Amino acid sequence: MFEALSGKLNGVFDRLRRRGALTEADVNEALREVRVALLEADVALPVVKDLVTRVRERAVGVEVLRSVSPAQQVIKIVNDALVEALGGGEGDNGARGLDLNAPSPVPILMVGLQGSGKTTTSGKIALRLKNREKKKVLLASLDVHRPAAQLQLETLAKQVGVVSLPIVAGETPLQIAARAMDLGRRELFDVVVLDTAGRLAIDEALMDEVAQVKAATRPHETLLVVDAMTGQDAVNTARAFQEKVGVSGIVMTRIDGDARGGAALSMRAVTGAPIKLLGAGEKLDALEDFHPDRIAGRILG
Ligand code: GDP
Repeated sequence: MFEALSGKLNGVFDRLRRRGALTEADVNEALREVRVALLEADVALPVVKDLVTRVRERAVGVEVLRSVSPAQQVIKIVNDALVEALGGGEGDNGARGLDLNAPSPVPILMVGLQGSGKTTTSGKIALRLKNREKKKVLLASLDVHRPAAQLQLETLAKQVGVVSLPIVAGETPLQIAARAMDLGRRELFDVVVLDTAGRLAIDEALMDEVAQVKAATRPHETLLVVDAMTGQDAVNTARAFQEKVGVSGIVMTRIDGDARGGAALSMRAVTGAPIKLLGAGEKLDALEDFHPDRIAGRILG
C-alpha cells in the first residue's frame, strides 16, 4: 500500500545521506520534500503539518547536525514520528489487538459503509478467533435492507466453520441483535459478532440504526471497517462514525490494493481510535495485526 510514498521518502533520504555533513537548510529542504510526499500520499493536511513540525523540532538541533551520521539521525526521527502518527509511542509499539476481556458472550459490533468489507471482515475475525483463540463464535447479520446480506453471512459462516444465527424473515435489526445475544447466552458462545447494515454513503438513518443497536447490545468492541482505497473519504467516514456512534477500533481493508496509504497515517490523529486490524485480501485468512512500528518500517524500508 505504501509503495509510492516509500519510494519518494527513500529518494529524499538517499540524497540526504550523500551529503554527509548537514546544515539546517539541508534538513529544511528534505522536510519540504517529505511534506510533499506525504500530501501526495493523501495524508490529511493537519497530520502532515504536525508530523513535519515535530521532526523539524527534533532534527535541527546541534546534536543531530553535528553527529557522526546526521542523515541517519534524521531518518530515525522521521521513523519515530511516523510510529507516533500511526498510534505507537515510546516503549509502546502501538499494536492493539481485539479486546475480549468481558463476560461471555462478548458482543463485537461491526459497522461501516456498504462495500467496505464489513461482512468479509466479520468472517475473517470469526475464523481467527476460532483457530487462534479457540473461541466459540456466533455470526449474526443485522442487515435487513439488502435481502442477500443475511445469506452472504450464513455462507461465510459455513466456510469458516462457525455457527450463524438462523434467519427469521421480518425482524428488525434490534430484534435480530436481541435474538443473537440470547442464543449466545443460552448456548454458551464466547463471542457474538453482529454485522450491521451499511449504506453507500453516510446518512442519518444509517447512523440512527447503528447507534440504536449499539445502545441495545452494549458491544465490548465496535469495529469500524473502512476501505483504504477510498483515501480521504475513509478518514471522513471514520470521523463521522466516531462522532455519531463511537468506535473502539478501526479495521482497514484492501491494503493489498494500490491505496496511497494516507488514510492509515491520518486515521489515529483524526479519530483518536486505533487501527486494530488490516484486511489484506479477499481470502478469509487475509487478516493482519496492525503494528505501527512495522508499518513505519515498511514505509521507510
Ligand atoms: P460489505 O458490504 O461491507 O459487507 O462488504 P463485503 O464484505 O461484501 O466486501 C465487498 C467486496 O470486497 C467483496 O468482494 C470482498 O471479497 C472484498 N474485500 C473485502 N475485504 C477485502 C480486502 O482486504 N482486500 C480485497 N482485495 N478485497 C476485499
